[in-house]
Amino acid sequence: MSRRKLVVGNWKMNGMRAHLDEVEAIGRIAAEHPAVEVGLCLPATLIMAADALRGAAFIGGQDNHWNASGAHTGCLSAEMLAEAGAQWVIVGHSERRDAQGESDAEVAAKAAAAHAAGLKVILCVGESLEVRDAGGAEAVVSAQLLASLPEGAAADWLAIAYEPIWAIGTGRIPTMEAVASMHAALRAALATRIGSEAEKMRILYGGSMNGDNAADLMAIADVDGGLVGGASLTAAKFGPVIAAA
Ligand code: PGA
Repeated sequence: MSRRKLVVGNWKMNGMRAHLDEVEAIGRIAAEHPAVEVGLCLPATLIMAADALRGAAFIGGQDNHWNASGAHTGCLSAEMLAEAGAQWVIVGHSERRDAQGESDAEVAAKAAAAHAAGLKVILCVGESLEVRDAGGAEAVVSAQLLASLPEGAAADWLAIAYEPIWAIGTGRIPTMEAVASMHAALRAALATRIGSEAEKMRILYGGSMNGDNAADLMAIADVDGGLVGGASLTAAKFGPVIAAA
């Protein structure tokens, strides 16, 4: 099964209008690599301003509420993101699961709401260092994935991102063997729920991916791309990751 590589930048709480030059430059690099699906999940305040990216790469949001509207101060609905120009959205990032206390059920509801609004979804899962050290990370993350998986999950609108929490922003990554084994375990877990659709679904690696390690990570059979934080903030850093895919 050949799956088109998906490389997505997660800008987190970074990016002002002054950084739209980088967005534009990343769009130019993406245009040079049409075989790779490239996107940037920007702070919501930049989505409307980031038009230069459109065409070469997609624009995404970083989270959406599970309701379409209502009394939820400070939140954004999937409809709002879609209207602003987002085509994708991240849900279930560990920084939100942790700081906002998001449960698996809430993450699944967010993914379903995003799909209903016409957005494609990157659903994040990953283990803490304690779980990794204790052993059994694959079972824990597989269970987290199945509990976070929305109804009707299908490869044409949903991708998974495996992000070990201890690898995010730390410069540390698991061994290639550990990544290969986790991705294979997650695909097997997906197959128990969605059958043959699991073969089509892209499973990205995230956590300190950069121009130095991206080629090795994305050469792993079940690694279908990357979700990239720090190394996506400039074209100089993100370009080599896109090229590695
Ligand atoms: P990082 O972040 O690449 O800076 O480790 C990845 C992420 O959190 O999505």
